[in-house]
Amino acid sequence: MFDEAKGFAVTLKRLFAPTVTQQYPEEKRPMEPRFRGLPSLRADPETGEPLCVACGLCPRICPTSCLQLNVVPSEEGDRELVEFILMAGRCLFCGMCSQVCPVDAITMSKEYELSTVERDGLVYTKMELAAIGAQEPTWWESGVGEHRETNAPNRYDRFRDKAAELY
Ligand code: SF4
Ligand code: SF4
Repeated sequence: MFDEAKGFAVTLKRLFAPTVTQQYPEEKRPMEPRFRGLPSLRADPETGEPLCVACGLCPRICPTSCLQLNVVPSEEGDRELVEFILMAGRCLFCGMCSQVCPVDAITMSKEYELSTVERDGLVYTKMELAAIGAQEPTWWESGVGEHRETNAPNRYDRFRDKAAELY
């Protein structure tokens, strides 16, 4: 009997509580700073070219093999990124690709409205990923480094000065 009364009390309490229904997609919930949406590429704002140095680490660590790189030797004897493909239909949004990138070229964007009626629509090319990456503020302005749990220097600190020279 006491349990039933407790149950009714919860129902009554919710009945008079203000409604929290939001009219999506007109209204969108505020996004957490570390939300992981579609992986995207950070790019040089002047040329639009991704900062990726074609090291090949992100496709290696990706648990679903949804990243494909086309890399050729460059004229300088280095590695040149020709194409960078993300098959988003397989992506888990785990963020491991962005964690492993030595130059922070790949990052988790805030894009989550990815539905499409064609399978090809889930395949993103290098320049499409760079265009999505360009919508975000650069990482050192977004305060990503402020949310970490230790004060130990990390790759964000090491890269900050170099990035400031680039932009
Ligand atoms: S977020 Fe995870 S699953 Fe998606 S591309 Fe990166 S490593 Fe692969
Ligand atoms: S880990 Fe970074 S630099 Fe290496 S291939 Fe992936 S995006 Fe490019």
